[in-house]
Amino acid sequence: MAEEDVSVTFKDLGLIDELCEACTRMGWKVPTAIQKEAIPLALKDKDVIGLAETGSGKTGAFGLPVLQALISQPQRLFSLVLTPTRELAFQIKEQFEALGKAVGVTCMVIVGGMDMTQQAVELGKRPHIIVATPGRLLDHLEKTKGFNLKALKYLIMDEADRILNMDFEEEVDKILKVLPRERRTMLFSATMTSKVNKLQRAHLKDPVKVEVSSKYQTVIKLQQHMLFIPCKHKHIYLTYILNEIGNQSVIVFCSTQLSTLKTALMLRNLGFTAIPLYGKMSQNKRLGSLNKFKAKERSILLATDVASRGLDIPCVDYVINFDVPLQSKDYIHRVGRTARAGKSGVAITFVSQYEVEVYQRIEQLLDTKLDVYPTVKEEAMILEERIAEAERFAKLEMARLDEKGGKRSKKRDYMDDDTEESMGVRNRIKKNKKKFKK
Ligand code: AMP
Repeated sequence: MAEEDVSVTFKDLGLIDELCEACTRMGWKVPTAIQKEAIPLALKDKDVIGLAETGSGKTGAFGLPVLQALISQPQRLFSLVLTPTRELAFQIKEQFEALGKAVGVTCMVIVGGMDMTQQAVELGKRPHIIVATPGRLLDHLEKTKGFNLKALKYLIMDEADRILNMDFEEEVDKILKVLPRERRTMLFSATMTSKVNKLQRAHLKDPVKVEVSSKYQTVIKLQQHMLFIPCKHKHIYLTYILNEIGNQSVIVFCSTQLSTLKTALMLRNLGFTAIPLYGKMSQNKRLGSLNKFKAKERSILLATDVASRGLDIPCVDYVINFDVPLQSKDYIHRVGRTARAGKSGVAITFVSQYEVEVYQRIEQLLDTKLDVYPTVKEEAMILEERIAEAERFAKLEMARLDEKGGKRSKKRDYMDDDTEESMGVRNRIKKNKKKFKK
């Protein structure tokens, strides 16, 4: 969150009293930097491109002007928000509902992994605002009788770089074709990639660009460490550190869904309250995991990069990168889950013999060398036997789950985020492993 400047209020930005009061109810005292920049422009009916990350208050930056316009000309199916992940969609809906509660705004989420017929019924009630992931929205536009967005007034694209990176480009193009041209558009993106640039040229009218975050900075209250350990000892050191730090709230990022699940099962066998979150889980299970972690019923969340962006999880004390993120920018997103809103936090990145090259790129991006996280090898290695046993248990449990749920694809372990870039890096890591084995 940017530095607070108490001299500018929400009212100064041109927002009506109902919405200023809604901000106060949310505990928002003054606008954030992106809100200060974007809200006055959007209220003047400009198309806006906001370069801002999640965590900067950008949902308010687009949500408040949309709500103000909706209040002045109430209409069903007024605004569409496209967003890359299911969790983000639910988060945005929550903010719209909280801000628009006093004026009775209805908001609906349309994402994959949930029953389509039920969604079609809900769509029939014509909510004011739809928050959707592109694939499922397109399904409804093509298949749900009577549903169209011809009267839409506002289109928001949230995390546009991410939407296009996740190869929703085709879906987004198709959706844009069936939206009315006479509308306002706001596009938010953490980075201005060439794909986002293309989108901007094609569909925005004289957009005004606003940029707030200085690039790739991690917050000062975040202590960042690395730990160079052999790949086969990662579970041992993870357990050692979790024991040391006690009952804190921790997110552990793994690179694949299998290692996320395996590590969660292993930790549970050791008596930790660990819960997994990854893309292939059903939507209800994903939300369930997240809510249990948020409510502090579980203190350790094991996650793939599906959780590294966008999720507003308050009070995470530690982020542990069990695997080095393949895309350097994901490091910033992952560690951004801690030290939020002025709190302090610790990030620890495990670097194995296979991940040195990928890790060095992160140091280059950060332009700093991270301190080594202090550990005592002898104390960690006492756990070796017990961890081996817990790993065996996890393996058996996974085989049991496989039998129960049908065979998993044998071809390869799933990544939640298969982009060309990450696949290229993954292949390099594989080659490195082979080289080491020779
Ligand atoms: P976002 O970037 O929209 O995901 O917002 C990140 C977090 O900041 C959310 O928990 C919001 O409730 C919170 N937030 C948004 N605007 C403000 C504000 N003006 N003051 C304080 N917190 C805010």
